[in-house]
Amino acid sequence: MSVLRSIPFASDIVEEIAGMIGTDASSGENRVIVFPGKRPSLYLKARLAALTGPKAFFPPRCFSLEEFIGEIARRRNPGFADIDQGDAAYILFDLIRSLKAFDRHSIASKGFGDFLHWGRHLLSFIDRLDMEGIDNSALVNVERNASIGYDVPQSVNELLSNISLIRREFHRVLADGRWFTRGTKRVAAVLETGEHVPDDLRRVVFAGLFGLTGGEKRILKSFWDAGQATVLLSGDPEDWPVLKDLVGHLKAKVEYGEASRNDRPMVSLHAGHDTHAEVLEAYRILAEAPRKKTAIILPDADPLFPILSFVADRMEMRCNISLAYPVNRTPVFDLIRAILAARVERRTEGVYPSARYLAVILHPFIKNLEPDSGLRSLLVSLERSLSDESGNGPLAGRSLVGLGDIEKEAAAFMAPSGQVGHFDALLEVHRLFFRNFENVTTVGDIAAALEEALEAIISRTPVRSYVLSGTIFESIFGSLGLLKGCLFSSSVLSGEPAENTRAVCDITLHHLQSTALPFDTHPVEELEIIGMLESRNISFDRVIILDVNEGVLPGPREVSPVIPAGVFETLGIPPPEFAEAIYRYNFYRLTGSAGEVHLIYRNSEDRPRSRYIEEILWEEEKRQGQLDVIPVRQTATSVNLKRQTSPPAIKKTDTILHALAGIALSPSALDTYVRCPLLFYFTRLMGLEERRTFSGDIEATDRGNIIHRILSDTFSPYLKLTVTGESEDGLRESLRKALEKNFKDIPGSGDYYLFRRITTHKLDSFLRRHVRTLSGPVAIECLEEAFRKPLKLKGATASLYGRIDRVDRDIASGRHTVFDYKTGTTKQYPSRIMEKADFGDIRSIHDHVPSFQLPVYIHIFSAARDIPVEKIDAALILLGNNTEEAFLKGKDENENRRLFEAYTSGIETVVSHMLDPDNPFEAFDTDRCADCTARDLCHM
Ligand code: SF4
Repeated sequence: MSVLRSIPFASDIVEEIAGMIGTDASSGENRVIVFPGKRPSLYLKARLAALTGPKAFFPPRCFSLEEFIGEIARRRNPGFADIDQGDAAYILFDLIRSLKAFDRHSIASKGFGDFLHWGRHLLSFIDRLDMEGIDNSALVNVERNASIGYDVPQSVNELLSNISLIRREFHRVLADGRWFTRGTKRVAAVLETGEHVPDDLRRVVFAGLFGLTGGEKRILKSFWDAGQATVLLSGDPEDWPVLKDLVGHLKAKVEYGEASRNDRPMVSLHAGHDTHAEVLEAYRILAEAPRKKTAIILPDADPLFPILSFVADRMEMRCNISLAYPVNRTPVFDLIRAILAARVERRTEGVYPSARYLAVILHPFIKNLEPDSGLRSLLVSLERSLSDESGNGPLAGRSLVGLGDIEKEAAAFMAPSGQVGHFDALLEVHRLFFRNFENVTTVGDIAAALEEALEAIISRTPVRSYVLSGTIFESIFGSLGLLKGCLFSSSVLSGEPAENTRAVCDITLHHLQSTALPFDTHPVEELEIIGMLESRNISFDRVIILDVNEGVLPGPREVSPVIPAGVFETLGIPPPEFAEAIYRYNFYRLTGSAGEVHLIYRNSEDRPRSRYIEEILWEEEKRQGQLDVIPVRQTATSVNLKRQTSPPAIKKTDTILHALAGIALSPSALDTYVRCPLLFYFTRLMGLEERRTFSGDIEATDRGNIIHRILSDTFSPYLKLTVTGESEDGLRESLRKALEKNFKDIPGSGDYYLFRRITTHKLDSFLRRHVRTLSGPVAIECLEEAFRKPLKLKGATASLYGRIDRVDRDIASGRHTVFDYKTGTTKQYPSRIMEKADFGDIRSIHDHVPSFQLPVYIHIFSAARDIPVEKIDAALILLGNNTEEAFLKGKDENENRRLFEAYTSGIETVVSHMLDPDNPFEAFDTDRCADCTARDLCHM
């Protein structure tokens, strides 16, 4: 006869089952235990081993729910294999295109890459219908409503209006291929147990199940009705509607177990300002009272590595990790992402954006390739050449670069030394990480090229000595192997080459991204580092949970863009909010089963502490009849931005003075010096500037470069020609072409998609305003041109240089205006600056002068074109808010002349200070150290 028992959270369910099984030699025989996940069975076996000691014992068969359903489903459909998600989406894509009903659907003209996003959601919907056991006849209303039109794109309505046809055909193709999805596995198991409950599964204990799908409930009901089930629930069905619903479904009578100890755990609250503060707090809790059977629960995998470094390594406790860690947070994935981004953005003429090229070659794995070859120093030299704004050298400041140009430059570096080892190594880097990807057309090609690249990393860098590298590389190779064997591994996904490249790269990344590192080491240690799901059904003496914040506990609400609101409810499927009920149950079961609970949350304005903390506090306050009954321990991690040491003062040695002699100074070099001479020393003389310039981050670097290229291309048809208010239409058409050209080979998805939309809008607005506010006809004199002017000061020589975005000449007055485009909104030239700043005093300049850019531009343009400075104006174009800032803000010509002279003397003050051997490189103050790129170097 079947039985249903409810035990309180405080009772250990594993202990309870061990008690039910007993310790007779044959007591486990014919017993089957089904847990929600895999891990509790390890605890059960360990517990039974401890109870039975050395005597012979027949253990029960243990399954996770997923394994149990697979076991039954394969009795009905022997030999069926689990299908990969990508393959399932591809089958769906192929299938829909073959159906007559979709002859005119937009999918008929689309490639698999375009379909994939929607396809995954559609697949997930069909899977959900199968998991819940929803019959096709129940879909009639959804199909009718979709024919009228839900509030989703029309193409999605067209798919939904034929959803039962798609589902039926999808099932047919899966069955022909002998494949299971999670959903069809449940469909098969429902059919199997509906006809006949297996005789060999006579005594099945279903332990700790919660939130079953409709299909799972029907399977359980078959065992229940056959009198073959013992259902052990953790928690009182009266408190948990989901459990109550299950009891009603089984028509069961609940037997209640005894609480094994006091129900109420001891709860402590801790707050930290970031992950490291949280991790250090976890360490403090453990170190203050080392006890056995403690679990550090990580609802989010991010803190895993800090926990390993700052807790596990420092505690003398045996430790076990059981957690799915996403591959996309590993450095190997970062490298793969950089390689594929470079490939996607490679232009048809064979050049790469410099930022993308540098993101690959500067990855630590690449820099450490062939450690004895000197490759590293060659890569650093190339990085400096590409980032050199001086305009010296063939690579300097280029935003696009070809591999051949780089090899030519590298050969020139090599020539004086006659060494070729580094050069050969560079050619190998180009082959493995760029050229091998140039002709890829399928995901199979990409997977093969990535395998070769990663094998080189393993065999030619010290990475293999890193303890976790085995797990990481093994998982990624496994994932690439699956890609090579997938149904579409040899298919070209679009007739348009750039589109095809984007699709195959996106699919590869998405596939790898969904891989999790299987950290699942030895069970049952003193300290468990474990994920929230992995902790289901396990009880610990002490639990330390990190990241107890909204957005993590509970996680974000997932809403499918394919399924219109209300459809789930119509079909009787639990809506997305149901996920919160599962988070809630897992949280309260875990904390309710522990003796001591530490909840650590992050103090953050955008992510408040979890609602579960608020509930616990409220309950406790009600119980005790007063406020603030659980004090929060604020973790105050002392952060000394100055790292105990003051910034150094670096003397100007002969070598440094030699480097300064004849130096070419860009406006940004001058501004850097004004901000901090030490920063100038680190970035301009020691060459650390590149890190900031080429971060590979669309916001930081590419954005500005792309916008400058678009504006240059927009105005270039008008170079040396006259622009008037009449030119607006022509210029806007030119802008349209420039946008087309510059975004042609750039991915049309994610950040870039948004960026393109914003750029189009901003530049069009700028152009209209700019042309409409012209005071009269102007001639475009130059675009993106570099200029230079020598400077002689106190016997030392230097020069000013810069690349000017645009210069216009007013036809009527003959005056020139120098323009510089800025993507932001920040003005640089304060009004009444002469009342505030003493331009002869470097400290005063540091305090009051944000930038020397425009006066430097006036100087260099004037010198190069022999035009008096009085006839040149200058302005910043602030694209961020579509305004302009004029440099000369005086009320008349005299005041403007004095202003310009003041800035000129300021430039001399700065350069003189810089070249003075008696002034060391020394910070003016430490006010701006907190966000300085050189802080680590400076305050060591
Ligand atoms: S950390 Fe401070 S002192 Fe050091 S370089 Fe940066 S701004 Fe200058």
